[in-house]
Amino acid sequence: MAYGKIERDLFKEELNSIKKAGIFKEERIIHTPQNSKIGVVFPKGSAQKELINMCSNNYLGLSSHPDVVQAAHRGLDSRGYGLSSVRFICGTQDIHKQLEDKLTRFLGTEDTILFPSCLDANAGVFEALLSEEDVMIADRLVHASIVDGMRLARAQTDTFKHSDMNHLEKKLQLHRDKRLKVIITDGAFSMDGDLAKLDRISQLAEAYQALVFVDDSHATGFIGKNGRGTHEYFEVVGKIDIITTTLGKALGGASGGCVSGRREIVEICRQKARPYLFSNTIAPVIVYAANHVMDMISKTSEAKDRLHKNTDFWRKGLQGAGFIIKEGQTPIVPVMLFNARLSQDFASELYSQGIYAIGFFFPVVPRGQARIRTQLSASHQMTDLERALDAFVKIGKKFDILFKSKQEVIEKYGN
Ligand SMILES: *Cc1c(COP(=O)(O)O)cnc(C)c1O
Repeated sequence: MAYGKIERDLFKEELNSIKKAGIFKEERIIHTPQNSKIGVVFPKGSAQKELINMCSNNYLGLSSHPDVVQAAHRGLDSRGYGLSSVRFICGTQDIHKQLEDKLTRFLGTEDTILFPSCLDANAGVFEALLSEEDVMIADRLVHASIVDGMRLARAQTDTFKHSDMNHLEKKLQLHRDKRLKVIITDGAFSMDGDLAKLDRISQLAEAYQALVFVDDSHATGFIGKNGRGTHEYFEVVGKIDIITTTLGKALGGASGGCVSGRREIVEICRQKARPYLFSNTIAPVIVYAANHVMDMISKTSEAKDRLHKNTDFWRKGLQGAGFIIKEGQTPIVPVMLFNARLSQDFASELYSQGIYAIGFFFPVVPRGQARIRTQLSASHQMTDLERALDAFVKIGKKFDILFKSKQEVIEKYGN
């Protein structure tokens, strides 16, 4: 037997070192649909607890919205359960093409191709398009799946300091002679909740003849006047050459992603992108429901408006109570605690008060920048948020961190 004591010990040792470093991840099991209130069993064997959920990507509250669930039932009845194929063999139904068209119209692009996930879109797009003569210049805080996609491509790579436009310009000058130059960024950054400066990035792209790639997973559906995304917020719709985004967050939260952008770029993905060619099509039930989601959010901005009202209440509430938050325009609201241990203790106090939020610390965020990341949803009732805010304030008092400067918190807890 090849898998013997030596192998087992080797892996056990690695797991132990993860535990020792205090970064061992344990799943908390949810026994209800995803929503602003969820029933969680944690630790294993304990009673189910109802919690206010402050950490899902269910921005528009569509993950278990009755209309979306109903649409999924209709999809199941009319198009079946699975397709047992990749897209280009026998995995494309009418509803897949409809969804691509709706995404194209919504995002204001020329064409769209669906992928099994946004991770797959990012994994496939650079390798399909770029060669050794090209360069990818990425913001240093882009999502891990973009980093992976860049690794798979043959093009040269470079980075610029997070949202530092002078640094980006220097890099564009440095790579002036390359065949294609692609500026790569997230639209909304998931850990800080800030937006990429797409107005400046577009200007620089024009000045240096570069392409712009934006992963708008944390913005599609709710950022910008009509919720089209970060490009709408900065009034550069039509100027972003490649947008990737996910169906797994605001747009119903099931799964799936896409590359949307210039016609030829999307067509090359259809010919060459490996996750499109070699991984299964998105299930009909998801595609059918996602079509319905696109209709819902194109028809009314009600959910988006409620989300922004909730975000406004939450940001003002935390700041008024004396917490340090990362300022911004998005429903991602990081409550800064700086110390890793403190972020863990704070999160478990929240849990015992019936609030579900997670403490993030190195290596997920830079050292000394530990935080509780809270996320708002259109499905939050004002009473949920009032209760959550009360809990935050109570725990903030207990740890004596309210109305304290960053320096004072670090002096007390270290970082
Ligand atoms: C969540 C996320 C992804 C991954 O999306 P999936 O569809 O779940 O694979 C990719 N990029 C960014 C920026 C994300 O936030």
